[in-house]
Amino acid sequence: MHIHPDARSVVRAIAPDEPVILNRPHAAERAARFFVEKFPGKSLYAVKANPSPDLLQVLWAGGVTHYDVASIAEVRLVRSALPQATLCFMHPVKTPRAIREAYFEHGVKTFSLDTMEELEKIVAACTNDAGEPAKDLRLLVRLRVSSDYSELSLASKFGVDLADAAPLLQATRQHSDWLGLCFHVGSQAMTPFAYVQALERVRVAVAEASVVIDVVDVGGGFPSLYPDMEPPPLEDYFEVIHRHFENLPIAYNADLWCEPGRALCAEYSSVLVRVEKRRGDELYINDGAYGALFDAAHVDWRFPVAALAEDLRDPVQDFAFYGPTCDDADYMKGPFVLPGDIQAGDYIEIGMIGAYGAAMKTGFNGFGNAEQIVVSDEPMASLYRGDRVIPTTDNVVSLR
Ligand SMILES: *Cc1c(COP(=O)(O)O)cnc(C)c1O
Repeated sequence: MHIHPDARSVVRAIAPDEPVILNRPHAAERAARFFVEKFPGKSLYAVKANPSPDLLQVLWAGGVTHYDVASIAEVRLVRSALPQATLCFMHPVKTPRAIREAYFEHGVKTFSLDTMEELEKIVAACTNDAGEPAKDLRLLVRLRVSSDYSELSLASKFGVDLADAAPLLQATRQHSDWLGLCFHVGSQAMTPFAYVQALERVRVAVAEASVVIDVVDVGGGFPSLYPDMEPPPLEDYFEVIHRHFENLPIAYNADLWCEPGRALCAEYSSVLVRVEKRRGDELYINDGAYGALFDAAHVDWRFPVAALAEDLRDPVQDFAFYGPTCDDADYMKGPFVLPGDIQAGDYIEIGMIGAYGAAMKTGFNGFGNAEQIVVSDEPMASLYRGDRVIPTTDNVVSLR
């Protein structure tokens, strides 16, 4: 495998017509080691953020042994890439066949649920042909919590309401020697307080149900760095989570888990694109809403950008992007800050698309191709390099 030093080197070598995903294994491995060493519990990788088998190998090398999977296809994928990994099926709505295959063929014991129906479904699907129920299930009840402190909400779809949690926890305890509570505060949580309010709900749920809890899983939501989104250091999140976890009325030997997606892989990839046309302050580039820039189009996410041509002299200005498909929705309002004399034919590197970027690419309108190339330079921003200038305002909250 040929490793290029950086995006400029790729442009010089192949002047690509199509977007190219640039991967930085060293950045993902560094993120993995950071979580493994500093999070005061076990860190599961949420595979949906980026299911690339190469990335899975990198995270495994970085010490991540447990993987949060949400579909039977993800179960099969991780099982084939990492035969030794522990898989946790954390989608609260699964099909009986998916549960059965996961349990009997792939050794999955850990499942999440948020209704009595799902509990019954899991128990039935894991009963063997002789009619004996599984004795080694590890079940987690997903609690609904607020997404108020996160950029992307995950509050409305999944999770049992606090008012209904006690009977569900008690019923789940009957089928599981090892019982947990999990939640998700929403993606890109901009303050550690997101986890405090969620752990307060966990406290109430445990007290009302009076059941023994073996694990609390604080889910994902750990932020990465983007323009205008400067979160406090991850150590602050870990410290606050640990302190509130220690104060819960649970078994003294209970485990603490987290399921980062974004924080483990955002720095892994950037995408190299070319300007095909300029119209005023709009640049028509060759990737977009149906490619690696889904969030830029659909939730106006801003990603860091860098122009790669060396002869651009004008001061920077704000640009919007159009993607390559014929759909008006293939538009990214940005603003993306680039030199004023950028023009058709120039290349741009768009950073921090390792999470929910590279993974979202579709083939719509024939624009799905993207070669993947490994580069060895630093990502455009990093939470893990140790040289970050921390924002001085505490708990920088940016609410939608
Ligand atoms: C998406 C998801 C994650 C990862 O979330 P991030 O915000 O990317 O950290 C973790 N757990 C579950 C259940 C999820 O659905």
